[in-house]
Amino acid sequence: MATSPNSPTLRSWIDIPPTSDFPIQNLPFGVFETDERGPRLAVAIGGYVLDLYAASQHGFFQDLTELGAAQPKVFRRRSLNAFLRLGRPAWRAVRQRVSELLRHDAPELRDNEGAVSQCLLRQTEVRMLRPIKPANYTDFYSSIEHATNVGTMFRDPANALLPNWRHLPIGYHGRTSSIVVSGTDIKRPNGQRKAPDEALPTFGPSRQLDFELEMGFVVGTGTELGATIPLADAEDHIFGLCLFNDWSARDLQSWEYVPLGPFLGKNFGSSMAPWIVTLDALEPFRIAGPVQEPTPLPYLAHSGEHNFDVNLEVALTPAGGTETTLSRANFGLMYWSMAQQLAHHASNGCNIEAGDLYASGTISGPTPDSLGSMLELAWRGTRPVPLPDGSERKFLLDGDTVTMRGYAEKEGIRIGFGEVTGTILPVE
Ligand code: MN
Repeated sequence: MATSPNSPTLRSWIDIPPTSDFPIQNLPFGVFETDERGPRLAVAIGGYVLDLYAASQHGFFQDLTELGAAQPKVFRRRSLNAFLRLGRPAWRAVRQRVSELLRHDAPELRDNEGAVSQCLLRQTEVRMLRPIKPANYTDFYSSIEHATNVGTMFRDPANALLPNWRHLPIGYHGRTSSIVVSGTDIKRPNGQRKAPDEALPTFGPSRQLDFELEMGFVVGTGTELGATIPLADAEDHIFGLCLFNDWSARDLQSWEYVPLGPFLGKNFGSSMAPWIVTLDALEPFRIAGPVQEPTPLPYLAHSGEHNFDVNLEVALTPAGGTETTLSRANFGLMYWSMAQQLAHHASNGCNIEAGDLYASGTISGPTPDSLGSMLELAWRGTRPVPLPDGSERKFLLDGDTVTMRGYAEKEGIRIGFGEVTGTILPVE
């Protein structure tokens, strides 16, 4: 029987530092291009990308019947979407095969100098692209700490959570056109804003630009309109996870959101990391989520381990300055699991599609150093966050770069997510 690609005993013939996000146990998927090569699918390994189209052309996947007639062209695409539609057997077969090609005792690729030079490129020599063309995008609100903080700030500390919050995963439909890959600059949005002490709104640059530390998950196989997803099957639809920054203009948001919810304060830009870490690679990091009280309705009630222990951090770098870590949180604390989010989303018959992106909502922890937005870190501007250069932040300034990172770690194996980063540009 083939060795599991998750086995901690696996090592690669590629030299990979122990601090790398991309050991042989990870093998996340993405899309890259170079000046010479058009968009292609790839897997990250150490400091390299493995060009899946080149590997396919060298015949390394010829025995993978799960791919059918899709290869090699499915690997020469601008997004993972067509690959996602092939389904879990195909995703698993490719990851398994890549693992076999890269393990230390496998000569097939290692000793084929021509193939190595064609298939392996240094990550510094490629441009990573947005890994999926998001079919649809939904943002949830599933951190109880975050929802409690926001409710405390804007409403009533004694009743911070609205009555529905513990009964269903709150979410809203967002916009896909402005979802960009890590490294894309974000222009400060103009919009309507009205401070509490202003009589009328004005139009101009957002004065309260913020980030939101989130994880996204990508659906690989969809459903027909009218179909539902039983909770027990929900994880079968999930391809993988990525880091996600849901940039937010708080002043636009707080003025416009009543009564229909987030709109222009959100859809000017969201950033996703270039690498999608498969749910398969995260299997060793399953944990139970928080106890849910009251017990959710039967279609949302599950026991067992449906959360994932992923350490997260967010850092800020002022223009020309040095990086400061603002916050450290953990994805494992989310009140509503991804399975519950997806089962709820499909419970009314809404069809889900390959390439759908679902974001967790801001991930905050219970302590002041584990908050996932400037809104919370500076407590609505009342507690400015000091930086080493002597400046302070209530919200983001032009030139600020926000970088989010994440990793799961166990038995010496570190499954990293790379990073999602973006720099704020001024309004012209
Ligand atoms: Mn959000």
